[in-house]
Amino acid sequence: GSEASAAREASSISLKGIRKEYPGGVVALESVDLDIRAGEFFTLLGPSGCGKTTLLRMLAGLDEPSGGSLSIGGVDVTDTPPHKRSVNTVFQSYALFPHLSVRDNIAFGLKMRGMARAEREQKVVEIAEFIKLGSLVDRRVDQLSGGQRQRIALARALICEPDVLLLDEPLSALDAGLRSQLQVELLRTQKRLGMTFVFVTHDQEEAMVMSDRIAVLSDGIIQQIGTPQEVYERPANLFVARFMGHDNLFSISAREGMTVQTPIGALETEDKNDGRVALIRPETLELTSPGAPSVEPGKRLNTLMCRVVERFYRGSNVEYRLSHQNGEQHSELIAEISNTGDRLFRVGDEVKVEIYPEDVIMLSDD
Ligand code: ATP
Repeated sequence: GSEASAAREASSISLKGIRKEYPGGVVALESVDLDIRAGEFFTLLGPSGCGKTTLLRMLAGLDEPSGGSLSIGGVDVTDTPPHKRSVNTVFQSYALFPHLSVRDNIAFGLKMRGMARAEREQKVVEIAEFIKLGSLVDRRVDQLSGGQRQRIALARALICEPDVLLLDEPLSALDAGLRSQLQVELLRTQKRLGMTFVFVTHDQEEAMVMSDRIAVLSDGIIQQIGTPQEVYERPANLFVARFMGHDNLFSISAREGMTVQTPIGALETEDKNDGRVALIRPETLELTSPGAPSVEPGKRLNTLMCRVVERFYRGSNVEYRLSHQNGEQHSELIAEISNTGDRLFRVGDEVKVEIYPEDVIMLSDD
């Protein structure tokens, strides 16, 4: 109803021309324009030092922008102090009370708000289960591991159910199993409560799994904003492609119409954009035996002969590292083939690689 949509509206975020220059001249953010929708799981993704934490601190009100404006729920909060913003933050440095118990740390925010003890207790028990620390609620925080502390910090922020939750690498200290478990549960909680999450990570896989949309940052500049699929399948430039983990990148020496010259030979593309580099995603390569008919006879596919150098079997898919010789020019390609139970190629096999023109993507430098 209208009440629910009003509540959700309260958690949209808008940044206009946000700039941050630290004393000493470090420009951490250039001029960031960003609109985060209410109820969205939004991720800031980028390498160390790109400005992710700075942007988050700005949203929390812990750092003042050097320029630009910021609003939450349609209200300008550029000059609003942190405690008057309806945001809560989970930082990398946990900021817990080391001498207090897990229980007291988690309940802290609720106590501050004057929630009655019985109600508080109930909530703490629920959330301690959620972060899988139910058995440790009476332990002092200084007797816990880094990963356990990280989960307490997460619980402490979640329990207050803020409109906006800012999370700075909240799962980075966890081992792989627990991490993927909490990824799923965090995402479910966010959707169930309709909170807006602004999530910081340098891990592109985590970003793709969790996010409604991702902003990829480098050197204080947003390189691309899009859904995980957009950012992965259509990276805006070479930086984004590299950061999303793409390997099959071939520099373009010349272009004539829809044909580009690359180290692996002439390639047909359907991408009209100008580019300096061609990207071919590993899962779009078609592999067959040298004598086999084309995977789509009648269609004009790019065809090259390669040799299998390495094979990595992953169960659901198989990764092949391939080498290609084009005159003097030697190149490597990676193919990721979903495992349908067909015969696998072996190291040393010669294979025919076919590439659809629509899968040859042009990338600019920036
Ligand atoms: P990480 O993933 O390593 O935490 P980040 O993307 O969060 O990195 P920021 O912490 O936002 O990056 O830093 C952005 C830039 O601003 C970096 O070059 C950093 O050295 C600089 N910086 C951050 N805080 C300050 C400060 N208080 N004074 C001066 N420069 C700073």
